Amino acid sequence: MRNGTACVDPRHPGPYFLPMKCPFCGQTEDRVLDTRVQKDGSIRRRRECLSCRGRYSTQETLLLDYPFVVKKDGRREPFSKEKILSGLEKACQKRPISHGQLEAAVERIAAWVINRGENEVPARLVGKKVMSELKALDDVAYVRFASVYRTFKDVQEFVDALEDDEMMEFVDANNPQLTLKPLNPNP
Ligand SMILES: [Zn+2]
Repeated sequence: MRNGTACVDPRHPGPYFLPMKCPFCGQTEDRVLDTRVQKDGSIRRRRECLSCRGRYSTQETLLLDYPFVVKKDGRREPFSKEKILSGLEKACQKRPISHGQLEAAVERIAAWVINRGENEVPARLVGKKVMSELKALDDVAYVRFASVYRTFKDVQEFVDALEDDEMMEFVDANNPQLTLKPLNPNP
């Protein structure tokens, strides 16, 4: 075994880490030889056991507990960055929006959800936040989807629908006023 993993003790909420045991001798005293921040934001540390001089690496990842999203009918489900992202991707299809812009918007939404500091967040509020990010990104994508969103009960239904290609056709067919070019430029 070459790698150890820091784990958060569920009995002690907060940034409390169990002491790392050397994988070779089981002792917990070590020294850090090298610390690197990985591309995904996790921290990798190369360590040396003070007892047996064995060397191993640990990887620390920040674990965030997202609140539950509460739907209108009372059902709860975990907040999902992936679902928000795929919804925004669909909303901005064929629009001049980079993937990085969408990911940054998702991070802002996720940070807002965390910073509320509550265990639950109404789906309606998440929906409003998603729409305001969409508006800041692209007016056309916003207007195109805002009208459709209003017909949905909550943001999850909105996001689920956006994953459906038939919904895209529905949106296009119902928003002819948003066509930017004449349909027959040279009749
Ligand atoms: Zn050791």
